[in-house]
Amino acid sequence: MQTHMPIGYKMVDGKIQIDKEKSKTVKKIFTEYLKGKSLLSIAKNLKESRVANANNKTNWTHGAVGKILENTKYMGDEFYPPLITKEKYQRVQAKRKHKEKQVGKTHQLNSTRNKNIFASKVFCGECGEPYRKYIEHSGKAWEKVRWKCKKYIYQNRVKCTNVFYFEAELKTVALNAINILIARPKLLNHWPPKEIIKPNKELTEVEKRIREIKENGEFSSQELARLIFKRAELVYNSSKINDYEVRTQTIKEMLTEKLTGFDEKIFSVIVSKIVIYKDGRVETQFINGLKVSDTLEYKRKEDHNGCSKKESGSHTATDEV
Ligand SMILES: [Zn+2]
Repeated sequence: MQTHMPIGYKMVDGKIQIDKEKSKTVKKIFTEYLKGKSLLSIAKNLKESRVANANNKTNWTHGAVGKILENTKYMGDEFYPPLITKEKYQRVQAKRKHKEKQVGKTHQLNSTRNKNIFASKVFCGECGEPYRKYIEHSGKAWEKVRWKCKKYIYQNRVKCTNVFYFEAELKTVALNAINILIARPKLLNHWPPKEIIKPNKELTEVEKRIREIKENGEFSSQELARLIFKRAELVYNSSKINDYEVRTQTIKEMLTEKLTGFDEKIFSVIVSKIVIYKDGRVETQFINGLKVSDTLEYKRKEDHNGCSKKESGSHTATDEV
């Protein structure tokens, strides 16, 4: 038991308590990371200042530091007293996730240079299909690039008559939605709807009851099956909330000041999709589920899709999408 206990705790009379001296190291690791230090440089500093780890050695690695940063016990649970506030812990997780994403994105950019940022993010609100990029009169001086519902032409027929979008219009829609969040950050605090937040107390009680039943040897109890099911449901809900909080934190971190132009990086990290409706309405959905609506009056006025009769039929999907 002793060797598996995370650094910062000690066992006293069969109870886990905070180890005053070593808990300072844990707190320092969390703080340094939030200040922007890398796992590697934190490990190096600890090694150099000869700080002892859980095994009373000074051979710190970036992996060991990373494990400490992701250990949920530091927020406290039924056995472990809290060492790090939930808020701080979540800020660290958001930061790590964000960093991972950035690394992942660099890889992606290198492997598929031509991948359009709007690919698989723009959807038709009328039929649910994704929007695709079409190039008309490709290579000619009057070449046109527009985004249309994938079902616009289906089996050689016009199936979906939802409006077309120029790429610049998509950028404007996204930029406006992002700027609304920057101007009104409170929107992020009012989301999500209260009902999906369930107190963790319930989970603790269910777990306690499960233990009691097991200790009493009542394994065939119907109550046990019901409780195990209930526990799974509660864990699922609480992980959804955690996920929501991490995502909201990521948005907050990405949005500091008003954007003057479309920012590809911010867009690809915080916007999950854009949904286009025929009446000019367009909805931008952020990674935490928050939606911002907009109506483009000139789109509403367009007859069908703004494509003249002469032009229709000569569109091709590009390979980029
Ligand atoms: Zn459609």
